[in-house]
Amino acid sequence: MNVHGKELPIPSFFQVYNYGGGNGDKDREIVYAELTGNTPALINYFYINNSFPHKFSSKLFNEIGRFNTVGDLYNYIRASLIRKGKIYCGYSSPDYDFNQKVFLLDSGAFNIMKQIAESVNYDLTLFKDRILEAAVDYYDFADRIKCDIVVGFDLGGKYTEKDDEKGNSRLVRFLASLDKKEINNALLELTVKYIKDHPDYYPYILATVHGDTPAEYSENTRYILSLEEQYNARFFGFALGGVASYKQVDPSWYNDINLSRIGKRGFIETIVPARASKIVRELVGDRPIHALGCGGYNNIALNYYCGATSFDAASPVRRVGDGNEESTRLVFDPTPFPKVGFSKYFTGGINMDGTLRREKAVYIKLNEVPDSMPLCGCPACLQAQTVHNIKQLYSMKSTNSEANYFSRQLIGLHAVMQHRKLCEILPSYTDIHAFSAAYPSELFRGLKYISERI
Ligand SMILES: [Zn+2]
Repeated sequence: MNVHGKELPIPSFFQVYNYGGGNGDKDREIVYAELTGNTPALINYFYINNSFPHKFSSKLFNEIGRFNTVGDLYNYIRASLIRKGKIYCGYSSPDYDFNQKVFLLDSGAFNIMKQIAESVNYDLTLFKDRILEAAVDYYDFADRIKCDIVVGFDLGGKYTEKDDEKGNSRLVRFLASLDKKEINNALLELTVKYIKDHPDYYPYILATVHGDTPAEYSENTRYILSLEEQYNARFFGFALGGVASYKQVDPSWYNDINLSRIGKRGFIETIVPARASKIVRELVGDRPIHALGCGGYNNIALNYYCGATSFDAASPVRRVGDGNEESTRLVFDPTPFPKVGFSKYFTGGINMDGTLRREKAVYIKLNEVPDSMPLCGCPACLQAQTVHNIKQLYSMKSTNSEANYFSRQLIGLHAVMQHRKLCEILPSYTDIHAFSAAYPSELFRGLKYISERI
């Protein structure tokens, strides 16, 4: 697919850039961006827009008005971070241009709505007005920095209570009282009108689909299509919302699927996004479908064969974040340490030469990865050369923290490239049967079993 002159393969894995939403690894992911080449990126409006104060606000985003493209903005951030010394001295950093990447902007609306709810003192009428205004601000913002694609502004899917909300009982009660369906539909209608009123709008807009059950998902998709007809305007594609978590979902998503033969582990999370992809694909013709947050390794093949064209996941880099200080002193000891948090390495997958790797496709603690395991040939692995070198850099935390950060990027960006590699292989096979015959593994056989029942 061509997106503003850039090539976006189908399917595509979007790397999640959370710079502005945390420190440490998130900064280095920008610094070492070349290790994932032109892999597309999802960025979060809430994190990169300093008009919403938050814990990890980056001052660099105050300069956002100076840049004509989101790529130029990230070029500036990368150069600034490198100038500040957030790079390992043993690495020679090449030139890199973020303008080669396709950028997808997601709203991070859950955090935004919390701030709005508080600012209107939990007044429902005012809240609804302000949410609609926030959506317009969001679309205007995406146009100014020339994001390639934007996810339609929505209230987000599920509200699993996070620690910081539990203490705020007023907020919890307010969120529980919201008619999310009504507000999300109002936001969809606003978005269709926005498309109609802005014929020169730069970003491509995805309509965000919601629904607690497969039936509601289908109904909501039809509603979006009816809005398009009513306003004579067209979304570029669709974003699947609220299907990334397999916890607390309506049991009807699992109808006719019994996992007792293959086990739930690694498979249970693939069902809801695959079903949602299939439902939407059957209704929308050949337009793009992005499954929000559903790009975990095990999800990718089924999502694609069920109709999704792209997905994102923060997990490859998030698993690196499990590594704590203590683990850096134990990394050469392969004994399992159940109580110590190590950065996790993605084993298995597919080598860059297209051959299936021997290990299981799982994340394991870095100390448990055998030094003899061959690397995959991706840019991060070419830098690392050996597992032992990664552990060596990882162990240097107390004397050279940038060496440790670098090792963590080599681990995380290798995992990103594995997700990308799988996306590159899939289109050569017409269905999961052909694919799993060419790449026989426990994972892909299990996915074939599920696909026959979905
Ligand atoms: Zn690799």
